[in-house]
Amino acid sequence: MHKGSCLCGAVRFTVASDLSEASACHCSRCRKWTGHFLADAEVPRDTVTIAGEEHIKWFTMSEKARRGFCATCGSSLFFDPLDKVKHSWLGIALGAFDSPTDTHLKLHIFTGDKGDYYEIEEGVEQHR
Ligand SMILES: [Zn+2]
Repeated sequence: MHKGSCLCGAVRFTVASDLSEASACHCSRCRKWTGHFLADAEVPRDTVTIAGEEHIKWFTMSEKARRGFCATCGSSLFFDPLDKVKHSWLGIALGAFDSPTDTHLKLHIFTGDKGDYYEIEEGVEQHR
């Protein structure tokens, strides 16, 4: 069982599964949304319980997914695919989790879009 929250605590969540699919997305959308890049864990949607859902504001930029953040403190929290039939997972920002997360980044994606002010560590799988 993992727990987490936004910065102000209005949105809290628990995840009843392991955080196995941890990845970082360096696309320009995720970089703007988070202020750096999005490190998240894709967890089975039915293992997630959210409290304070009324404090979540959703931003939809494409037909593929919507992004949820706390309307009070602005914390980036959820990456939610809109096709619920095809995708049974919900992405949750790793920074919102309480420690220990018992996971680490296993994959970096859209690295061709990454910022020019940082490098990605060696030894982790990368997809441009
Ligand atoms: Zn908040």
